[in-house]
Amino acid sequence: MDEVCYFTNRDLAEGGHARAWVFKERCPKCGKGLMGKPVEKGKVKMRAKEYVCPECSYSVDKEEYEPTLTLCVAYTCPSCGKDGETTGMYKRKTIKGVPTYRVQCTDCGANIDITKKMKEKKD
Ligand SMILES: [Zn+2]
Ligand SMILES: [Zn+2]
Repeated sequence: MDEVCYFTNRDLAEGGHARAWVFKERCPKCGKGLMGKPVEKGKVKMRAKEYVCPECSYSVDKEEYEPTLTLCVAYTCPSCGKDGETTGMYKRKTIKGVPTYRVQCTDCGANIDITKKMKEKKD
């Protein structure tokens, strides 16, 4: 879990299943640390509004930083039932009033919507 800054595994509302994750990326300033949510007393502050480099303390606003990251998705398509992998932008769109990561099935083009879990407290 150290190398990802987001991970989810869930059944989709329309059927099918998806796992999604985002790898941490190297600090653009020092190139050594992996940018992540700040850590305080050994615990990651998931709700922090910024990402920081553990090496040089360079920090970037979450809103600015997250869309530059790549969301990787491994899914079982709710429409055609095939398994596949694709990538999307790590930024939620509001779809039917719910914050959602939307990617498309590489086989049939159906939308695969990973909605925000309402009880998810991670961010
Ligand atoms: Zn750094
Ligand atoms: Zn499909």
